[in-house]
Amino acid sequence: MRQFNVVVLGAGGVGKSALTVRFIRDVFVENYDPTIEEEYRRTVTVDGQLSSLEVLDTAGAEQFTSLNEVYIKSGRGFVLVFSLTQEATLKEVDNLRKQIYRIKGGDNSIPMVVVGTKLDLVNEREVQRSTIQSLSSRWDLPFYETSAKRNWHVNDVFEDLLRQMRKR
Ligand code: GDP
Ligand code: MG
Repeated sequence: MRQFNVVVLGAGGVGKSALTVRFIRDVFVENYDPTIEEEYRRTVTVDGQLSSLEVLDTAGAEQFTSLNEVYIKSGRGFVLVFSLTQEATLKEVDNLRKQIYRIKGGDNSIPMVVVGTKLDLVNEREVQRSTIQSLSSRWDLPFYETSAKRNWHVNDVFEDLLRQMRKR
């Protein structure tokens, strides 16, 4: 069985832990300690092929650029997370994206997915779909709008990333 490691990055409070724990354990954690960094593992079958995914849920990286560098070096694929309810968190995705290309080398084939979270919070939404659509096409990266709370499109994120990683 092939094994892949994935790093989940993004600003504090965007829902990295909620997304990761939903994918790994299929539960929603309302109040996950924001300072905890945790590595999880699960097997997943995509397109009839079983793979093992190791998922690193990072914490507090946005204040420590050097820590980001360690994470980026260790990862094969990346989930870049922002909150649909907080437009400012998109900027961190752009920073991370650039940092990943700088550290891993500039080629366009680094497995990455952009994820907007908290899709269920309709009334608090700040980022329009058209905004993220034009950014992700400029970045040439797939994006998903998700809700860890409602379990919307969470598996799609990791399946897309897995397909990208398998090609390499
Ligand atoms: P992290 O700092 O990026 O790991 O963010 P957390 O996963 O700890 O989530 C921060 C806050 O957002 C918590 O209060 C979560 O309950 C909440 N949250 C995360 N994902 C969702 C979601 O999909 N829907 C809603 N309504 N709240 C969410
Ligand atoms: Mg967290």
